[in-house]
Amino acid sequence: MSQTLEDMRDSAAFPFDNSYARLPQHFFARQTPSQAAEPWLIKLNEPLAEELGLDVALLRRDGAEIFSGNMLPDGADPLAMAYAGHQFGGFVPQLGDGRAILLGEVVDRNGQRRDIQLKGAGQTPFSRRGDGRAALGPVLREYIVSEAMYALGVPATRALAAVSTGQPVYRESILPGAVFTRVAASHVRVGTFQFFTARGDVDGVRALADYVIDRHYPELRDAGNPYVALFEAVCERQAALIAKWLHVGFIHGVMNTDNMTVSGETIDFGPCAFMDVYDPATVFSSIDQQGRYAYANQPGIGQWNLARLGETLLPLIDADTEKAVEAANVVIGNYGERFQTHWLGGMREKIGLASVEDGDLDLVQSFLALMQTQQADFTLAFRRLSHLAADDSAEPAFLASFRDPDAARAWLERWRQRLEREMEPAAQRSAAMLRVNPAFIPRNHRIEQAIAAAIEDADFSLFEALLTVLARPYEDQPAFAAYMEPPKPEERVVETFCGT
Ligand code: AMP
Ligand code: MG
Repeated sequence: MSQTLEDMRDSAAFPFDNSYARLPQHFFARQTPSQAAEPWLIKLNEPLAEELGLDVALLRRDGAEIFSGNMLPDGADPLAMAYAGHQFGGFVPQLGDGRAILLGEVVDRNGQRRDIQLKGAGQTPFSRRGDGRAALGPVLREYIVSEAMYALGVPATRALAAVSTGQPVYRESILPGAVFTRVAASHVRVGTFQFFTARGDVDGVRALADYVIDRHYPELRDAGNPYVALFEAVCERQAALIAKWLHVGFIHGVMNTDNMTVSGETIDFGPCAFMDVYDPATVFSSIDQQGRYAYANQPGIGQWNLARLGETLLPLIDADTEKAVEAANVVIGNYGERFQTHWLGGMREKIGLASVEDGDLDLVQSFLALMQTQQADFTLAFRRLSHLAADDSAEPAFLASFRDPDAARAWLERWRQRLEREMEPAAQRSAAMLRVNPAFIPRNHRIEQAIAAAIEDADFSLFEALLTVLARPYEDQPAFAAYMEPPKPEERVVETFCGT
């Protein structure tokens, strides 16, 4: 192993440049990962490794050691980040990376700075009563869903590797342990800001805000009031992000403020899942008894979380609190409109409208209402509508998505009348719709099947197959047609669990 380490020094396997580690000491705790007994590399995301400028050949050879935390690449400065957060509405002044360790940052081939973080590599000073470990199931879920989100065009943290540790973790039952390597634009959360505010540490908030502006929003440095501009920019990215979640039927599941980035990437895929039949009240998470984070509640919760971010920024916005509150309120007050613009814009695309008319919102809403009352699969209904846009012979398949085809026929009639006022040829409209209405989403029953095969039989073929299909979600892949299908009644998975 010592020789491998030497090789790595020679080849500088990771071109680290660790900016977070240069922030004030109380922003984090330095922490070396724990050792894993018998690490085995389940999966390495080679295209992503290339994009990050990493030495792929070396990672193929030593990935198990590196991505388990057993071997520290040269230049790593491992640390656990401090943060706080509102969990289900209740404030917890200290959370922090209890089972995640930031190895460091690299500047990728596109000039973007990216965090590389191990999740499940042992305890940190923020572990509280937790073991710092991760179970295989949640690691595979996060791998599948984050890569699916990327392919769907939804900003999200990425999966670089999954490693099995060869050690058990103890939850309600004994499960195989694993480590997930996550890549993020950064791991700064709304809750990171709250950590400093909770301690009355305005200098900390300012240092963090300046860091975030430099890293994610450098164009705001010269804004009249950079902190109002920062708040506005984060609201804009989150409004755009949550609209995209709704467009693909994604339910995050734990939208606590510690699970919301300021970069605008989806993060912390705990009990997340995609909806099959359209129902705005859909909830999967076992711990979300009240439906706080149900599908249709996500935009409102996003605004609630952003209001918490706004509170932390008040002392930076203006020394006069009243003026600061006024400025922040204007921004948070505009969130609803921002969200609606993104949401309706995307929904127009989903039903094939390029022009804008007053009645479009109603046309979209009546389609959603139809899906709900007729128990239609959200993904298939839009996909079949996309085919139908250019091909009348696709009509029976579309109608078959609904319990009562006549109700669907009535809506189709309205839709066709609206399309008469569109300019594009039908073939072009259909092609555009097929680019925004996926054929494949990571359906929950498929994820569960892949996890069960991995845990029970050490069989990763379903996991691999899912990754293959989901890498091209907007292409009809006839060989994988079965992966488009919603679950049969006996296959339905209605509850998902946090990784903890
Ligand atoms: P999450 O539910 O993954 O967003 O985590 C919420 C908080 O609990 C974070 O501070 C995590 O670091 C911490 N946490 C979750 N699981 C563990 C674990 N197994 N060991 C230590 N801390 C954990
Ligand atoms: Mg979290």
